[in-house]
Amino acid sequence: MEREIYLDNSATTRVFPEVAELMNRIYLEEYGNPSSMHHKGVEAERELRLAGETLAGILKCTPKNLIYTSCGTESDNLAIIGAARAASRRGKHLVTTVIEHPAVLETMKYLEGEGWEITRLPVDGNGLLDPEDVRRAVRPDTVLVSVMHTNNEIGAREPIAEIGAAIKEKNPETLFHVDAVQAFGKARIIPSECRIDLLAASGHKIHAAKGTGLLYVAPGVRIRNIIYGGGQQGGMRSGTENVAGIAGMALAAGILYGKLDEDLDKLYTMRESFTARVSRIPDVHVNGLPGRGSAPQVISLSVRGVRAEVLLHALEDRKIYVSAGSACASNHPHVSETLRAIGCPAEDLDSTIRVSTSVMNTQEDMDCAAQALEEIVPMLRRYSRQ
Ligand code: PLP
Repeated sequence: MEREIYLDNSATTRVFPEVAELMNRIYLEEYGNPSSMHHKGVEAERELRLAGETLAGILKCTPKNLIYTSCGTESDNLAIIGAARAASRRGKHLVTTVIEHPAVLETMKYLEGEGWEITRLPVDGNGLLDPEDVRRAVRPDTVLVSVMHTNNEIGAREPIAEIGAAIKEKNPETLFHVDAVQAFGKARIIPSECRIDLLAASGHKIHAAKGTGLLYVAPGVRIRNIIYGGGQQGGMRSGTENVAGIAGMALAAGILYGKLDEDLDKLYTMRESFTARVSRIPDVHVNGLPGRGSAPQVISLSVRGVRAEVLLHALEDRKIYVSAGSACASNHPHVSETLRAIGCPAEDLDSTIRVSTSVMNTQEDMDCAAQALEEIVPMLRRYSRQ
């Protein structure tokens, strides 16, 4: 049987076997409600406490600074809407970039409809934001700036520490929100060192279960809850906690951060050999900065003359799974704002695929995928020119 080569890890990942095992044990044995006062509740509460200690250790904060959510999208919504509602008397201005994920862009649009003013900053040809542009955009009435750590379509990594410094120099009261969904587990991020007030992450991007997410809230930062109910998690996110999911997310994060440097070396080696090989195919362009200038796991390829969807399905025939542009938006065909923002030529907008790796991939996967592209691309071009 032909083996599967899964290269769509920025859309979602396969759960680590250790995570599935732990979750299974919690589902079958430690299934109590952490709010219950009896033994089963205490067992579940212990799992939450252990998870909190692991995650707080990674982010160098305390478990009190963490709110568990259902996904990165919810974390982004809670951060932005929650901060806006808590601080609306200070002003009604928000700053973001044009290349954010819809979890941020659509939330900003919602607030715009509620009367907030939104400044959307451009990026350069590699998808990078200039911290000076952020400094200029921040005003006395700016409540929050939201900038992603790692772009999900092209792997651009924003200069988060410099942006954090620029914001706080201009207005110490302006909150800094970072969507770290594509960075958590692949970059060392210490929020307090980058002046980050709010940081969103997602479990299913790091080999934990779908339906898990995280929001870090810096000490002293006030946000309003957006879900109302039984008052769990200090009232910040009512609803019975997803104990197995949260424990699994902490275990996955612990595994990844326990060997981060080794994994980064492996991911960058795979990235470099793959990009070196596919860029030798005529009219194939790798978007974004080369080498360690980009995220280790996101590779954006513009393949001139071949529609992304056609290429995706041709690879799928060989059991190689990639995405067309950004998978999160792939159910709704659209032109990528990120590709447009980096000045991608019009004829490539519809011809860009994303290959995204994880620690579960091997060099052999990358060699097979590169070989498949070397064979498929000239063939598809021949057909599309007829
Ligand atoms: N932010 C970024 C940068 C993402 O890439 C994604 C998902 O792809 C999200 C937010 C949303 O995360 P989730 O799928 O956990 O809601």
